[in-house]
Amino acid sequence: MKALVKTQAGKGFLEYKDVPEPSPGPGEVKIRVRACGICGTDIHIRHDTFPSFPPVVLGHEFSGEVAELGEGVTGLEVGQRVVAEVVYKTCGHCRACRTGYYNLCLTRRGLGWAADGAFATYTVVEAANVHLFPENLSFEEAALSEPLAVCASAVCELTGVTAGDVVLVSGPGPIGLLTMQCALAEGGQVIITGTSADHDRLALAKSLGAHFCVNVEEENVMSLVHKLTDGLGADVVFECSGATPAFRTGINAVRKGGKYTQVGLFGHPFEVDLDEIVIKELEIHGVFSSNWRGWNRGLRAVAQGRIQLRPVISHVLALADWESAFDLAESRQGLKIVLIPD
Ligand SMILES: [Zn+2]
Ligand SMILES: [Zn+2]
Repeated sequence: MKALVKTQAGKGFLEYKDVPEPSPGPGEVKIRVRACGICGTDIHIRHDTFPSFPPVVLGHEFSGEVAELGEGVTGLEVGQRVVAEVVYKTCGHCRACRTGYYNLCLTRRGLGWAADGAFATYTVVEAANVHLFPENLSFEEAALSEPLAVCASAVCELTGVTAGDVVLVSGPGPIGLLTMQCALAEGGQVIITGTSADHDRLALAKSLGAHFCVNVEEENVMSLVHKLTDGLGADVVFECSGATPAFRTGINAVRKGGKYTQVGLFGHPFEVDLDEIVIKELEIHGVFSSNWRGWNRGLRAVAQGRIQLRPVISHVLALADWESAFDLAESRQGLKIVLIPD
């Protein structure tokens, strides 16, 4: 079968090549991949700025059909339309695993960087990590279940948004748009921010229900936040851009006793004044990957029609065209790019 493989460590070394078809071991499921999205992590692996364990097949945001069941697998049938969590193996007995936070397992191995992923005709995952997806979703849409699970974890599980909250979301990329939709579903009044380069993304955010879309190069978001909150500040901030100015704006914009959650990765250290966190008694969260709770909540919200995935997809291309698709993703044009394997 054809697969997109990181063949060795270093910058580049991605190859679309023939590899042996995987077969499921005990407790595992073989999935015929129908769609797999390009994630920022894949771009980082291309440039060797995210650790991977080559040779490894990339891709972790995918959907497909059950092709074969390994020994001892029950509760699934060949042909079912499924998605699977990005986690491939965890230890099963550390504190994180025992308390359901296996996304934080010390020895966690993830699909598409430590184990063969889904930019391929077939992939193999543990049966426990498989979810059926709602009938109202296409394979392309279902491929967004993984980023949705991360956003649902951030908004619904880790942070919490309550009706009446004024919520600031920075960065209208795929993660920002999904985070925004989760916050809207929870009843928040949402301000989403971007720059002039995000013109089309902000327009899309508006059509998806954002209450206010702000180009921070043209409009002062702080005065809007203060106007909406009688000068108190936003109840909740989700920083999804990974841009350092957005961190500072978020910390300034959040109210005393408010909640700030970092969803985007900055990719580099930078200087911050942590006194703001002390003085404001802020509740600060990070979100790393996802676990069953985020997956279940995200998929239910989609089944209920509270979250739209199709508008977040800008391109659907063949996996064979991965190189131009990756270039397109890096150029930050469009939104989520979904690839279809042979
Ligand atoms: Zn991802
Ligand atoms: Zn563990």
